[in-house]
Amino acid sequence: MELYRQLVESLSQKEVTLVAVSKTKPNSAISDLYEKGQRIFGENKVQEMCTKYESLPKDIEWHLIGHLQSNKVKYIAPFVSLIHSVDSLKLAKEINKQALKNDRTIDVLLQVKIAEEDSKFGINEKNVFDLMEEVSRLPNVHVKGLMGMATFSTNNLHIQKEFESLKGVYDQIKERYDSVETLSMGMSGDYLLAIDCGSNMVRIGSLLFGARN
Ligand SMILES: *Cc1c(COP(=O)(O)O)cnc(C)c1O
Repeated sequence: MELYRQLVESLSQKEVTLVAVSKTKPNSAISDLYEKGQRIFGENKVQEMCTKYESLPKDIEWHLIGHLQSNKVKYIAPFVSLIHSVDSLKLAKEINKQALKNDRTIDVLLQVKIAEEDSKFGINEKNVFDLMEEVSRLPNVHVKGLMGMATFSTNNLHIQKEFESLKGVYDQIKERYDSVETLSMGMSGDYLLAIDCGSNMVRIGSLLFGARN
C-alpha cells in the first residue's frame, strides 16, 4: 500500500494527524496498516470497536467517530483514546462518570453540525460555547477540540464554506480554553480542502481501505 506511505508523508509535513477509519473492515486490514506504522484507528460502532480492541495490539489508539449512546459509554471507557462525537451534556456526564470508574480522564471532541442535511448528528454552532463551558467543568472529561462533517456534495465552494465556518468557531474556542488543540474535519473525498481550511486531524476510510459495502 504505497498510497498509505504517500498519504502519511504529506500529512505529517502539514502536521495533520491521520485517523485510519477501519469500520466494517476486517482485523487483517487493520494489521496491514499497523505493520506500516499506523496506530490511530477510527470506528463508528461501539460493539465493533470493542471486538477489534480485544484481538488487536494494545498500543492501538481507538477513536470513536460515530454517534454514541450514553448507555454504551461503559463498554469503551476502559480503553478509548478519543471520542469525536460528543453532542450533549448528558453524554458528556456519562463519559465523565465512566472515566471516573476506570480511574482515568477521557479525551473528547464536541461534534458540531455544519452540514445542511438534518440526518447528521452534532450541536449547532451557536450552542458550542455553552456546551464547551459545561463540559469543561467535568473533571474526568478533557475537551481537546471540535469535529465536523461537511455536506455530502460535489460543490466544493459549499463544502469550503462549512469548513471555514467550523474553523471560525474552533479559533474562538481555542482562544478561551488551553486544552483545545484538535480540529477533526475531512474524510476521503474532502480532506485536502479541509486541511486548506485549517483541519489538523483527518478521518480517512475508503481511500485507504477501499470502498465499503
Ligand atoms: C465513515 C466515516 C469517515 C470516513 O469516510 P471515508 O469517506 O470512507 O473516508 C469519516 N468520518 C466519519 C464520522 C465516518 O463515519
